[in-house]
Amino acid sequence: MAEDTFDLIVLGGGPGGYVAAIRAAQLGFKTACVEKESALGGTCVRVGCIPSKALLDSTELFDQIRHKSKLHGITVDEPTMDVAKMHARKDAVVKANTDGVAFLFKKNKIEWVRGFGRLTSPETVEVQGEGGARTLRAKHVILASGSVPVELPFLKFDHERIIDSTGALTIPEVPGHLVVVGGGVIGMELGSVWLRLGAKVTVLEMAPTILPGMDAEIVRAADRIFRKEGFELRTGTRVTGAERKGDKVVVSVDGQEPIEADYVLVAVGRRAYTEGMGFEEAGVRLERGVIQVDEHFHTGVGSVYAIGDAIGGRMLAHKAEEEGVAAVEFAAGNHGHINYDAVANVVYTWPEIASVGMTEEEAKAAGREYRVGKFPFQANGRARAMAETDGMVKVIADAKTDRLLGLHILGPRASDMIAEAALAMEFHSSAEDIAMTVHAHPTLPEAVKEAALAAGGRAIHI
Ligand code: FAD
Ligand code: NAD
Repeated sequence: MAEDTFDLIVLGGGPGGYVAAIRAAQLGFKTACVEKESALGGTCVRVGCIPSKALLDSTELFDQIRHKSKLHGITVDEPTMDVAKMHARKDAVVKANTDGVAFLFKKNKIEWVRGFGRLTSPETVEVQGEGGARTLRAKHVILASGSVPVELPFLKFDHERIIDSTGALTIPEVPGHLVVVGGGVIGMELGSVWLRLGAKVTVLEMAPTILPGMDAEIVRAADRIFRKEGFELRTGTRVTGAERKGDKVVVSVDGQEPIEADYVLVAVGRRAYTEGMGFEEAGVRLERGVIQVDEHFHTGVGSVYAIGDAIGGRMLAHKAEEEGVAAVEFAAGNHGHINYDAVANVVYTWPEIASVGMTEEEAKAAGREYRVGKFPFQANGRARAMAETDGMVKVIADAKTDRLLGLHILGPRASDMIAEAALAMEFHSSAEDIAMTVHAHPTLPEAVKEAALAAGGRAIHI
């Protein structure tokens, strides 16, 4: 068996792992990255963030043409969507991104070792690839094995009609009826894709609201908009099972009539993917499958670190990336930094929902005295010009110090606007810092400034 020596091995080529590998190479480490799939980029690039956003962008454009062009005085024939072409474009977008990661590996002289890796000691990773087994040795190892969809025991995936998010990214035709189990981020995003193309979409959510955990006022406003768009949202609903009947699936629901669907997307969360990789045998502690680390991302074993979805917390690509960089810095004896209060959350529906910091409910539960400032897009000149006036910005600031505690946006391109709020959180800004910052006119971010002004009781345009 061939044995290769490196300074640092990363297990997993997702956004956590590949970014860690690049940072390690920049610091002069001879670096290998073990990835079992045929392309680099992980869940995010291959079957997550990137393909879902490609589909959301295609269907958003379709929806704009269909419903909004008239408003602007544009007359077009009823548009049609070539679903195969939409998927081909999405695949090309994914390929451009996976190729991009491969290019960055070459540029930084990182070796991609293709195959399934197992930690056989704190310094060795055995890789089972097409060409046989290979043992890699390194002083430092970073575990970045990511996550996989949760499967419900009474609603097992058949990957034909009862599908996970990966299946929902490749449905070959517009379903007549898509039932989504779980009204979280994936449910609302991928539900939006197929709803815009004409599917009936029914979301069955166990919790009392969709998107539980987000600011309740923002979710209430979003819920109203999503229903107007055509979503059937059934909250407080418990699914008990499903039965395949040919190409249909009959979903049974506690206390309700069974629902017949063409496809059932089960999107009830993801779990850390850590089994069968020798982690526990090598001394790494797992709790319900989640790798346990200290504040330096160290597992407590040798120089083995872990990052990303595999260590729990919020499952976000940008969180995984930052942890990857921080872990490498710690391994190199430098200082790593990640401020979880400044990690933004985005739901790419339309309108989008983006937030950073505390929700109002969290501020209340923490016993904070706080002020709230709100500003509706209805009163924003640019939003009116765009005919995109749904939603609002909500600022939560400490009542005594005015420090920004949280900022929530329901509105057009909220995903882009939240960067300002993340920066404000990172700099420990006050609401007044945002309010006093000159914002270009006419732009959507002026609504952020106005909400910050409103927190001080002096919004101008409302
Ligand atoms: P992963 O991306 O899961 O990467 C882990 C990699 O390790 C995989 O490539 C896997 O093949 C490999 N691997 C695992 N074990 C082994 C082994 N033993 N040997 C070899 N290779 C191995 N997040 C956002 O921030 N924004 C979004 O818009 C967004 N959209 C999403 C949409 C969908 C549909 C999904 C499913 C997720 C989305 N996410 C989004 C979440 C995001 O994809 C994850 O948080 C992110 O990919 C986590 O990165 P990671 O590096 O920790 O793990
Ligand atoms: P999620 O945690 O966002 O939502 C799961 C939903 O399913 C919750 O609302 C939960 O109450 C509900 N649920 C759980 N069990 C249920 C049951 N038996 N019946 C009905 N409802 C049930 O998880 P997800 O949407 O599967 O996404 C997984 C992860 O991927 C998320 O943690 C998210 O961070 C990440 N992701 C992020 C983005 C983004 O950043 N835009 C996009 C997609 C996925």
